[in-house]
Amino acid sequence: MDSYDVVIAGGAVMGSACAYWLSHMDGFSGRVLVVEPDPGYATASTALSVASIRLQFSNRINVEISRFGLEFIRNASRYLGKEGGVHDLCLRENGYLFLAGSDAQDEILRNNCALQRDLGAETELLDPAALAALFRFLNLSDVTSGSFGPRHEGWFDNMGLLGGLRRAARARGVDYVTDRVTGLQQDGGRITAVELASGRRVAAGALVNAAGTRGAEIARMAGKDIPIEARKRTVFIIDAPNAVHPDAPLLVDHTGFYLRPEGDQWLCATIPQDDPAVDPDDFEPRYQEFEDLIWPRLWARAPGFDAIKILRMWAGHYSYNRLDANAIVGAHPEISNFYFANGFSGHGLQQAPAVGRGIAELICHGEYRSLDLSELGVARILENRPFREIAIV
Ligand SMILES: Cc1cc2nc3c(=O)[nH]c(=O)nc-3n(C[C@H](O)[C@H](O)[C@H](O)COP(=O)(O)OP(=O)(O)OC[C@H]3O[C@@H](n4cnc5c(N)ncnc54)[C@H](O)[C@@H]3O)c2cc1C
Repeated sequence: MDSYDVVIAGGAVMGSACAYWLSHMDGFSGRVLVVEPDPGYATASTALSVASIRLQFSNRINVEISRFGLEFIRNASRYLGKEGGVHDLCLRENGYLFLAGSDAQDEILRNNCALQRDLGAETELLDPAALAALFRFLNLSDVTSGSFGPRHEGWFDNMGLLGGLRRAARARGVDYVTDRVTGLQQDGGRITAVELASGRRVAAGALVNAAGTRGAEIARMAGKDIPIEARKRTVFIIDAPNAVHPDAPLLVDHTGFYLRPEGDQWLCATIPQDDPAVDPDDFEPRYQEFEDLIWPRLWARAPGFDAIKILRMWAGHYSYNRLDANAIVGAHPEISNFYFANGFSGHGLQQAPAVGRGIAELICHGEYRSLDLSELGVARILENRPFREIAIV
């Protein structure tokens, strides 16, 4: 049986970020194996993401995680080195614009804005007149306020980030294997070995669960439950020749959809009204969401969207934490060498640099050294103690 100090189940952005940080961390010289069934990442959330980053969260820790994500993305070529092969992750800092349509939503934006500014964000709280002056293409008749981050927010190259992390990890000796984790062996409250679909067995000093929507399956292999399920999100790329505003921000509308420029075109999606758990193999786009939920609201918000054509659409999955829609990060209290990096909803891409670093610190030093991620720990799941993030897009 082969033996590795750390086995990582899942080699998309989260698994590769863990591998990158482990292989670059002072004081760690162990062997790392990343097990990934699909090296083309056809259905990984990482590949199907809309790849945006913001500081506009409601929890202090999520703002701080994204602040480091931003620092990493801006300086990717320095962090990843020559081996990472990344020159530029093409960050477009157009900002995020959240719109509110009621007193209660105004208050949420006001509170979030104060927290974010306290942590170095440049979020501005704008009244309808100020919004109208900045965003002339929007109809704001039902809008009561908005929060806009003119800097430190935008979108970037998702597969560039993943490719860079992978290449930099491999260059430092991390092994990637095309296989699937199918079983775990334990002894005395520790994972001892990992079984793979090929029949191979690998002795493991530690295991990281970075299997995205399949995170609950991996946990069950050790007899543990985590409240993670797949939630479908359909993304539409549309052409709107009467509405060409490539400098527009990512708009999060209080009526439930979001929209951002994609070159001269637009990308949009909505939270479905009915949002059940889905089969993790079901990637059929829900076209009707555009007709019923997005287009009427989009046209009401911006009259330039009167004539549009859908150029393409795809469905991806949020790995959704039913307890509080926040990430689950850290060691399992009952299996000390079993680490979780799961449940990132629609913000895991930007969280990968900080979460990968945190998991590597836990494995290497037994504690967080840079950013304390303990609020996101597994203990709150076992104690049924929600730690909610309300700014979920
Ligand atoms: C439509 C959409 C829009 C999004 N927009 C954003 C955004 O704007 N900003 C942002 O930050 N985030 C966004 N996200 C979220 C982000 O993409 C995810 O949170 C992030 O990519 C999760 O990465 P991951 O590595 O945990 O999971 P994944 O990318 O899903 O990877 C999990 C990997 O595990 C592998 N795996 C599964 N089972 C096993 C097994 N048994 N053994 C070994 N490996 C296994 C899979 O093959 C897969 O490659 C979006 C997601 C979607 C779907």
